Amino acid sequence: MKAVLFEKFQEAPKVATVVDPTPEEHGVVLKVEATGVCRSDWHGWMGHDSDIDLPHIPGHELAGVVEAVGKDVKNWKVGDRVTVPFICGCGSCSECHTGNQQTCLHQEQPGFTHWGSFAEYVPIHQADLNVVALPEAMDFATAASLGCRFATSFRAVIDQGKVSAGQWVAVHGCGGVGLSAVMIASAAGANVIGVDLDPAKLALAKELGAVAAIDGKGDVVEAIQEITKGGAHVSLDALGHPATMTNSILCLRPRGKHIQVGLMLGDHAAPAVPMPKIVGQEIELLGSHGMQAHRYGAMLDMVESGRLDPARLVGDKISIDAAPGALMNMNKFQSIGATVITSF
Ligand SMILES: [Zn+2]
Ligand SMILES: [Zn+2]
Repeated sequence: MKAVLFEKFQEAPKVATVVDPTPEEHGVVLKVEATGVCRSDWHGWMGHDSDIDLPHIPGHELAGVVEAVGKDVKNWKVGDRVTVPFICGCGSCSECHTGNQQTCLHQEQPGFTHWGSFAEYVPIHQADLNVVALPEAMDFATAASLGCRFATSFRAVIDQGKVSAGQWVAVHGCGGVGLSAVMIASAAGANVIGVDLDPAKLALAKELGAVAAIDGKGDVVEAIQEITKGGAHVSLDALGHPATMTNSILCLRPRGKHIQVGLMLGDHAAPAVPMPKIVGQEIELLGSHGMQAHRYGAMLDMVESGRLDPARLVGDKISIDAAPGALMNMNKFQSIGATVITSF
């Protein structure tokens, strides 16, 4: 099959021909119809992720059609249109047994723990646990965009934040994760405030439902405290930076929830946290990372009913031949929509 392969970290990936994958007994092989290019793929290519063995094929935001099925798989057949969360559960650890595959102790991540979806075919483990059927009307590019940024935001807002109608929700950083969160929290009936440095992203946040947009260069905490008359009920750091994390905590009202969605890596791995406010005002600090397959139904129902429109967050559609360039430049261009590989 054709695939984007790199032999060394930080060396230009090539479009190469490699052996087709075969399914494990509990797994499937998918024919990839669309796969998003994500900053996490760039981190992997840079060598920031210790799970990766070389040579490697990146890609974890995927949708496609079942091509081959392992003998122990009960729920899937050749030809099914499907997607998967970027974190796949093992099915046998204590986290999986409580339905929390997103924190599985032996998790698999296509494009990290094994070869990913920048390829014509990709293997998926424990298919009955991890594979999700797509609604008829959903195109593959939109479906691919769900698996990482959109699903992570859905879990952050709905499952971790438990956002309800009328609450004030602040979203710090309006990239892919942040704009998804703006859309989802607005659909849940919250009053959403978007914060970013880029006026174009703030304008899109308002189009997607934000009732206010704040320039991140100003006094963000004061502005949110004023708009909300006392602070947000729930606030997300959708970027992953000490400055946005701090603003997110400080803009909350007493007993508010801060949700850390953006990854904090390298120099930002141990930020200074404003503990006096957390103790004195009983602030909750929550993490959010991915979303388990069995929670996709709730998200897909909101897409089918028209309350969520993830297609609005899809950007450029490119061919696999353009993928190496797109991957290497992922850290340079902050495009608004997600770039998706749709021809192979
Ligand atoms: Zn991703
Ligand atoms: Zn597990």
